[in-house]
Amino acid sequence: MTRLLLIGPPGAGKGTQAVHLAEIYGIPAISTGDIFRSNVKNGTELGTKAKAFMDAGDNVPDSLTNALIRDRLEDDDAQEGFLLDGYPRTTDQVRELDAFLASHGAALDAVVELEADPEVVVARLRKRALEQGRSDDTEAVVRHRLEVYAEQTAPLIKVYGSRGVVVTIDALGEIDAVTARITGALVDRGIVAADAFKP
Ligand code: ADP
Repeated sequence: MTRLLLIGPPGAGKGTQAVHLAEIYGIPAISTGDIFRSNVKNGTELGTKAKAFMDAGDNVPDSLTNALIRDRLEDDDAQEGFLLDGYPRTTDQVRELDAFLASHGAALDAVVELEADPEVVVARLRKRALEQGRSDDTEAVVRHRLEVYAEQTAPLIKVYGSRGVVVTIDALGEIDAVTARITGALVDRGIVAADAFKP
């Protein structure tokens, strides 16, 4: 049973690492950004409501986000653990998640903070904009997302830090090297790979 949260500025590589870590720990990666994007793509009511906020680089309102994540965490595949990417990203969302987990007698085992220089992430997102055409990867929106991160999400690291669950990882370098840094730091906390991944 492993419950993890990945946190870090846009462009730090959360989505990429989430895929690798989900496989290594045998848990689902749950990304609110991906869920919103697939709703936008499929033209659902949720997607229609979320799109303007996402395109502006603002957080989607909690009224749309909290229920969505509660439902997702109730799914069968999340009962043996999960990796959250992109939620919680405000202190209000932390309170929601705390209450939800407490009602299930659970808590996060570790919060992995991916640390990256703002100029590096802006450069990475500029590249991703060319490759993937995400509508929120334009330079101005990226800068705004970084501000929203600094104002609303970065304070969460202190909140979780006071609980002693944060591991801070340098997000620069090769993808595999970053993954190895994360798994190494988690082993030190007694969090080990799923059986299929053990030597
Ligand atoms: P990034 O981490 O690169 O900013 P995400 O895929 O996590 O990208 O999020 C993209 C957008 O989706 C955000 O800018 C925001 O509009 C919306 N979003 C994702 N997660 C949340 C959340 N927990 N609360 C509110 N909005 C969210």
